[in-house]
Amino acid sequence: MTLDTATLPTDLFIGGAWRASTSGQRIDVLDPATESVIASVADATVDDARAAVDAADAAARGWAATPPRQRSEILRKCHELMIRDAEKLAALISLENGKALGDARGEVAYAAEFFRWFAEEAVRINGDISVAPGGASRIIVQYQPVGIALLITPWNFPAAMATRKIAPALAAGCTCVLKPATETPLTAYAIAQLLAEAGVPDGVVNVLTTSTAGRVSNAVLDDPRVRKLSFTGSTEVGRVLLRKAADRVINCSMELGGNAPFVVFDDADIEAAVEGAMIAKMRNGGEACTAANRFYVQRGAAAEFSRLLTGRMAALVTDDGLKPGTQCGPLVNAEAVRKVVELVDDAVAKGATLLTGGKRLDRPGHFFPPTVLADVPPDAQLLSEEIFGPVAPIVVFDGEDEAVELANATEYGLVAYLYTGDLARGLRVSERVEAGMIALNRGIVSDPAAPFGGVKQSGLGREGAHHGMLEFMEAKYISTNW
Ligand code: NAD
Repeated sequence: MTLDTATLPTDLFIGGAWRASTSGQRIDVLDPATESVIASVADATVDDARAAVDAADAAARGWAATPPRQRSEILRKCHELMIRDAEKLAALISLENGKALGDARGEVAYAAEFFRWFAEEAVRINGDISVAPGGASRIIVQYQPVGIALLITPWNFPAAMATRKIAPALAAGCTCVLKPATETPLTAYAIAQLLAEAGVPDGVVNVLTTSTAGRVSNAVLDDPRVRKLSFTGSTEVGRVLLRKAADRVINCSMELGGNAPFVVFDDADIEAAVEGAMIAKMRNGGEACTAANRFYVQRGAAAEFSRLLTGRMAALVTDDGLKPGTQCGPLVNAEAVRKVVELVDDAVAKGATLLTGGKRLDRPGHFFPPTVLADVPPDAQLLSEEIFGPVAPIVVFDGEDEAVELANATEYGLVAYLYTGDLARGLRVSERVEAGMIALNRGIVSDPAAPFGGVKQSGLGREGAHHGMLEFMEAKYISTNW
């Protein structure tokens, strides 16, 4: 479909109104496939941030007091409208992020589902009552909205990372200020427009784009009315924000980086493992926190797995994400390509064997082809850093203990993929691998009904499931005799 970019909302969304920034400045949004300017969005200042918190505050009491059924119905409407506009949203995501249209369609379906799931959760906010063990009093526990939330999202899933936060915040009765990534702001504004159409009251969701993320988010976090920070992005920025949040002891949820191992035992169905590997590696062109970053394959299966994976990766069509037939779009920007080139060159210089790909494409746009590396030595940087690109490094292992040790040799712990034909081994290894999520004989874990999140330096807290609601609520305990 052709998008009319001239009609897209590009101003700040504060208190239900579209406003230019108080500085009048704007930020260009670039198409990663052509490097041309798609649109420009307002560049929020600290004053705009304060206005957004004022709007969230003005709406807070009313939204928290809105009956859960009514909040639920509005969220349900948000889901319907996203599905109605799915093709337009997918084209917009593909345009500003670069991902293949098929991936963008998948993201819209996933993103919309958070509204449906949390519409259902909004009417299931239960507390409990118990008799204190001494028998003299009753313990009543009820859940209340935590308060105004600052939501900060990355560019790799511009719709889903926003709805995964907005939907539970609204279901719980919180109002919020969303700060999307500068690379992909248009999707966030398009969602804000749909939320308004769905009946989300003015000020409940406010959206700010800015080129000075640190200053603007500090202004929001310094405001005593703000009680929650929910961040998705790199571990590096997450650390900075946790330090900042410590000033006012703000409740934090952190969805940070990953370095997922993909472990294939030689008793696995190798064709199924390759199928799963393609999903785990190539969803979003490798630009996912859940992307398989290190492939550990048991010696007996290594040759066949490498051959089949190389064939599948080499056959992928790399082109403009919006072009029919494209399976791998451009990376988000020049810096992303520079980093992938550096990691691949480092691995090859240290002795890895290039099986396919390996060199950036000689054309405008930020294109790097699907790449497979074998015999990757343990000191290659790409085994310890997030690649965030279409590169699959393969390492051979011998025994189960070695596989667990290799999988855990990282400071991250978001997700791990395991392929084995032996269910007992699958469960045993799942228990030993340090990750918040395990995909056992599957290439994907993301599901709005499941608690998404990591351990170690991959983050704090969970999104999705009922757990996602708890991140936006405080337990209040009332002690009474009766
Ligand atoms: P990033 O950390 O650079 O930026 C994320 C967001 O933080 C953006 O909106 C950015 O503008 C903002 N930001 C940057 N500096 C800031 C500061 N000082 N104060 C406040 N905000 C600031 O990450 P990215 O490059 O946009 O996204 C990629 C990263 O996100 C990867 O590490 C990936 O693993 C991670 N990620 C994690 C999950 C998850 O659920 N665990 C999901 C998607 C992406």
